[in-house]
Amino acid sequence: MKQVNGQKLLDALGSGVSAIRGRITPDAPMDRVTWFRAGGLAELMFQPHDTDDLVAFLKLVPEEVPVMVIGVGSNLLVRDGGIPGVVIRLSAKGFGDLEIVGDNRIKAGAICPDKNIAAMALDHGIGGFYFYYGIPGSIGGALRMNAGANGGETRERVVEVHAVDRKGNRYVLSNADMGYSYRHTAAAKDLIFTHAIFEGFPEDKAKIRHDMDAVRQHRETVQPIREKTGGSTFKNPEGHSAWKLIDEAGGRGMMIGGAQMSPLHCNFMINTGQASGYELEYLGETVRAQVLEHSGIKLEWEIKRIGNFMPGYEIKEFLGRATG
Ligand SMILES: Cc1cc2nc3c(=O)[nH]c(=O)nc-3n(C[C@H](O)[C@H](O)[C@H](O)COP(=O)(O)OP(=O)(O)OC[C@H]3O[C@@H](n4cnc5c(N)ncnc54)[C@H](O)[C@@H]3O)c2cc1C
Repeated sequence: MKQVNGQKLLDALGSGVSAIRGRITPDAPMDRVTWFRAGGLAELMFQPHDTDDLVAFLKLVPEEVPVMVIGVGSNLLVRDGGIPGVVIRLSAKGFGDLEIVGDNRIKAGAICPDKNIAAMALDHGIGGFYFYYGIPGSIGGALRMNAGANGGETRERVVEVHAVDRKGNRYVLSNADMGYSYRHTAAAKDLIFTHAIFEGFPEDKAKIRHDMDAVRQHRETVQPIREKTGGSTFKNPEGHSAWKLIDEAGGRGMMIGGAQMSPLHCNFMINTGQASGYELEYLGETVRAQVLEHSGIKLEWEIKRIGNFMPGYEIKEFLGRATG
């Protein structure tokens, strides 16, 4: 079933839309955007030209219409019933800049790939950014998820974050304002990060290159990085590895339709071909239920699940088996 309200919502924004410079797409297919290559339509997708354009657009969107921002979709599972309201997808032109702005400081636009900041840091002998080399997301996604890997985390490098809220007000947040914890920020959910300033430290280029090579080699060996995936499906519970719990509960390689827990890294869920959002999420909840039964531990999703279920295809957490 397709969602076909996009044009109606666009019309409701009124004549102010003619002054908007970015691209507006009604009923935008999200399976072309996310790494999973699955999911329904976004009612309206907006790709702002720059921050001023984003602010102008947000002021046109009626208060009751939901708005969410996405990065490059490497951590998103979109449900098949689609996403109501507006999805903001930042454009590389307006939000992809990357520059050195002082001693060991780098300013990065929110849609800039994590890999690029690692490469720039290497070029300038700035340490502390090697871990971004292995994360396939954007800086905006890294700021929201406190992305981290191989011993490094976003929160260690953030100096200040520039953002716009749902109403179009602008903010500058300090590292403390971001309230970081494991794969989480306490910053208001409606904030759209536009760019940020990061700080590293002077480091020998050979050492940085060595650390980046180690990140790449590690990933190629242990992760299904060339598959349609969303990275780690579940967060590591305190004192445990999610993959071990899944393995022990018999989840490695488990399949539902075209969705599979990777045989290579069983905390990575993959779309082996034509998996639907339903199949991917149903597999995830099946694994959660099995781990709960086997170890008593409730796995928490790391992947963000967004949008509506298709009517008749709703999925309950732990398949409804959790006891509280
Ligand atoms: C093969 C693979 C390996 C991975 N390895 C790792 C890893 O080692 N470590 C790790 O931490 N993650 C990993 N991930 C997950 C993912 O890459 C990170 O979470 C990344 O930071 C998400 O960025 P994104 O641009 O894809 O965000 P999306 O997936 O598009 O969005 C993720 C969340 O960020 C929010 N968001 C995105 N942009 C903005 C913005 N500008 N302002 C506010 N909120 C925003 C979205 O609303 C959503 O809630 C991996 C993923 C894959 C596919």
